[in-house]
Amino acid sequence: MTTPVYLDYAATTPVDPRVAELMARHLTFDGIFANPASRSHMLGWQAEQAVENARRQVADLIGADPREIVWTSGATEADNLALTGFLRANRHRGRHLITSVIEHKAVVDTAHALEAEGFDVTWLTPAHDGRISPAQLREAMREDTVLVSLMAVNNELGVIHDLAALAEVAHAGGAAFHVDAAQAVGRLDLDVQRLGIDLMSLSGHKAYGPKGVGALYVRRHPDIRLEALIHGGGHERGMRSGTLPTHQIVGMGEAFALAGTEGAADQARIEALRDRLLEGLADLDGIHCNTAVDASVPNILNLAFAGVEGESLLMALRDIALSTGSACNSASVEPSYVLKGIGLPRALALASLRFSFGRFTTEADIDRALEALRHALVGLRRQAR
Ligand SMILES: *Cc1c(COP(=O)(O)O)cnc(C)c1O
Repeated sequence: MTTPVYLDYAATTPVDPRVAELMARHLTFDGIFANPASRSHMLGWQAEQAVENARRQVADLIGADPREIVWTSGATEADNLALTGFLRANRHRGRHLITSVIEHKAVVDTAHALEAEGFDVTWLTPAHDGRISPAQLREAMREDTVLVSLMAVNNELGVIHDLAALAEVAHAGGAAFHVDAAQAVGRLDLDVQRLGIDLMSLSGHKAYGPKGVGALYVRRHPDIRLEALIHGGGHERGMRSGTLPTHQIVGMGEAFALAGTEGAADQARIEALRDRLLEGLADLDGIHCNTAVDASVPNILNLAFAGVEGESLLMALRDIALSTGSACNSASVEPSYVLKGIGLPRALALASLRFSFGRFTTEADIDRALEALRHALVGLRRQAR
């Protein structure tokens, strides 16, 4: 059996070997294994130094101060802390949150939980390209709006939001601005000063770091206060207790440093690969591009194949690791809520696949995918006739 071609980088990336090597040196007895909170011996200080070095690497990538970085278990926890922590801490100022229907579930489900807790949520619906316009946000702002949460790059479509313009609208209305940037690290410039971001969720494993670690950027400003969700030893300035996982953290730090030095070159190479895939499909009928290519990162491409079912296509493409974005239960297959959210007809949404590329994708991978895809499409369409 040949190894499948991996075109699912938006689900997770492999750990860069340079990152893995560094992580391995922070686990065992002959490495830096001590508790970074152990203040009474040198081994603890060394671990603390490793954690603080990684904190600076993450801060540097986004133009932040290291004291503004709070380690979490991933972007999911960072989203929970940003939304729930901020709204609870600011109850007295207002109870209104604005977000969109195509956010990641970590934001969508947290916002639903907050609604159940008595907060008020406005759910914006994006245009067909997946974007929320500043005018649309301005329209939704209220006296009691305290927080706006919109993602930098959508994980199913790849579409990029105009963060600076949206932040300006949020601030003009007296609200703070949270961004889920899990898909944007190494893909976009994420300078929090230039963009006007107050809270930003980050993940290690979408950027060649390990799974199980992330961070929340929290602007140092009297108006940006959070109520902790996880209580314990008061780590991370009381915002997130728990022993810091040194090996995970140094891995995320190194991955983010590499995103800074290599991200732009990766993206340029990946853009050519994406174009190669698109050109290779150009002569086939019934292919609809769900991704607004000019407004999106080049590493994510969502395509609909009219006349076939995404699930059948996936079956026929067993040699290619990709995702449909649709969640199935035994009774029915539901189309992706993101594709539904941009107004894609149900049949097309069910016929969609997400291709996502990364640092280790080669031209040969694209050619193998093209061959498999053309073969599968011809076969399935012949069956359907
Ligand atoms: C993957 C992802 C998350 C969740 O990140 P974890 O670190 O896996 O918890 C949140 N938001 C977006 C946009 C993502 O792509």
